[in-house]
Amino acid sequence: MAHRDDATDSIDLSVPCDHVPGISVHRVRRPARGCEACLKLGSQWVHLRVCLSCGHVGCCDDSPNRHATAHNRASAHPIITSGELGETWAYCYPDDQFLSSGP
Ligand SMILES: [Zn+2]
Ligand SMILES: [Zn+2]
Ligand SMILES: [Zn+2]
Repeated sequence: MAHRDDATDSIDLSVPCDHVPGISVHRVRRPARGCEACLKLGSQWVHLRVCLSCGHVGCCDDSPNRHATAHNRASAHPIITSGELGETWAYCYPDDQFLSSGP
């Protein structure tokens, strides 16, 4: 197997919504390096989420600070994917639906 330190994965958009044409990020480095806001705060996170409009890395809703959702509220960027290794799903906030066929 190739060394995967610099690997990027394509995002599973097999069930696209109307917001998909507006995204600019189509490949994501996994695992993501960390929640940008938590790193500044010295806080911790559970899972990482990546914004497909600007590449912002935030933490999931199981994390104490929920920075991915905070980024969506502040920016109105609609779609996130996972920053976790082995996960390629995407989720649209305004549509409240996953854009991937798998679990
Ligand atoms: Zn959508
Ligand atoms: Zn965070
Ligand atoms: Zn964004």
